[in-house]
Amino acid sequence: MDAGCRFSDVSRRDSSEKSTRRQSPAVHDSISLSASRSTDHRMWVLKNLTDLLHHTFSSQFVFPVLGHEDPNPGLGQTYKEVADLWGHWLPTESLDTFSKGGYYTFEQKAKKLRIVALNTNLYVETDGKEDDPGGQWEWLRTVLDKSRKNKETVYIVGHIPPGVDERQSGVFLAPQASFQEKFNKKYVQMVRKYSDIIVGQFFGHLHSDTFRIIYGENGAPVSWLFIAPALSPRRTPSGANNPGIRLYKFDTISGQVLDYEQFYLNLVSANQRHQAEWLAEYNLTSYYGLPDVTAATLSDLAERFITQEGAPLFARYYRVNSVRQPSSSDPAGCDASCTLSHYCAITRVDYTEFHSCLEAETSAFSARAASTAAAPALLWLLLAAAAAAACRPS
Ligand SMILES: [Zn+2]
Repeated sequence: MDAGCRFSDVSRRDSSEKSTRRQSPAVHDSISLSASRSTDHRMWVLKNLTDLLHHTFSSQFVFPVLGHEDPNPGLGQTYKEVADLWGHWLPTESLDTFSKGGYYTFEQKAKKLRIVALNTNLYVETDGKEDDPGGQWEWLRTVLDKSRKNKETVYIVGHIPPGVDERQSGVFLAPQASFQEKFNKKYVQMVRKYSDIIVGQFFGHLHSDTFRIIYGENGAPVSWLFIAPALSPRRTPSGANNPGIRLYKFDTISGQVLDYEQFYLNLVSANQRHQAEWLAEYNLTSYYGLPDVTAATLSDLAERFITQEGAPLFARYYRVNSVRQPSSSDPAGCDASCTLSHYCAITRVDYTEFHSCLEAETSAFSARAASTAAAPALLWLLLAAAAAAACRPS
C-alpha cells in the first residue's frame, strides 16, 4: 500500500543515507533521484517497486495507492499505464476506475469489508476551477451509499492526507502539497456523513508518525485518521525522519483496527555498523496506555497532550513523530508554539478551525501561564499569538 510515494518521496538525500544505499543499490539509487526523474524513469521506478512487492508478498493481497510523485497525467503519463502495471493485484472493476481517475475500491464480500483507495493528488494539483476532479467525489458518494446499504465496513486509504502538516511551526504556512481548501472541507464533510461505516483512514506523504481526529457537527469525535511514517528518510526545514514501516492489527470479523506495531530503522546506527537492522519501535496501545483504538480514545489522548502537567504523553508522541530521528525527536526542542501546532493539526483538519484552534489555545495557555505567575512563558506565548495573527492569510 502506498508503496509508490513512500519510496519516491525523498527530495533531499541526507548524508546518512549514502551508506545504506550501498546495501541495496537498485532501490535506493532510484528513489534518490526523485527531483530530476524523467517520466520514463518514474515508470521504471514504479515497475521495480511493483515487482519487489509482488515477489515479497506473493501470497498476500497488495492494495497500491497512487503517490504524489508516481506517474500520472499531470506528469505526462496515463493512469492506464499504471493500471497495467498493477493488473495482477486488482480485479477488473477496480482497474476500470483506476484507469479513469487513479482511484478504485475493492470488497471482500464474505467479511463485508471494503477498501476505498483515493487519488488525493486530484485535490492538490487541479487549478481549483473543477468541483469534482476526475469524478472522484461522485464516485465516492455512490460507493459509500452502497456500502451503507450493504452494511459494510470501510477503510479509506490515500497518499496525501487532508488537513495541515503538524510540523509547520506555530503559524499556518501553506504546506507544499495539501488539499485545496474547498476539497479539504469536502473531505471532512464526507467522513462526517459516513462515519458510521468508515472504520479507519490511512494516509502517508508527510513522512511523520501522527494522527488526526474528525469531529461531528456536535463536536463529538467520529473518526480517526492515521498518518504512518515513510520507508524513505527525508530531511526538510520542518523536520527529519528515520525510515519506518507499520503493521496494523485488526479484527477480521468486524474490521475494527485493534492496534498497530511500528517498526523503524535507526539510520545513525545503520551507518555506523554498515548494516540495516529493523527494530520494533512501539506498540500503539501500550505506548500510550490506550484501552482501544477509537476516535474518542485518540481525541482524549490529544487533549492530554496539552493539559497534562509536564506533558509526558506529548513527549512520547514527539519522540516517535520523527520515528526517533535524533535531530527532531527531543521534546525539549518543541516549544509551546510547536506543541500547539501539533495539537491543533491533530484535532482540527479543517483549515479555518486550525487557525481558530491556534488562537484560542494560545490564549488559554496564556491565561494558565498568568495564573501560575509564569511570567517568561506568558511573554513568550503572547509573542507567539502575535506572530500567529500577523501571519494568518487574509
Ligand atoms: Zn508524497
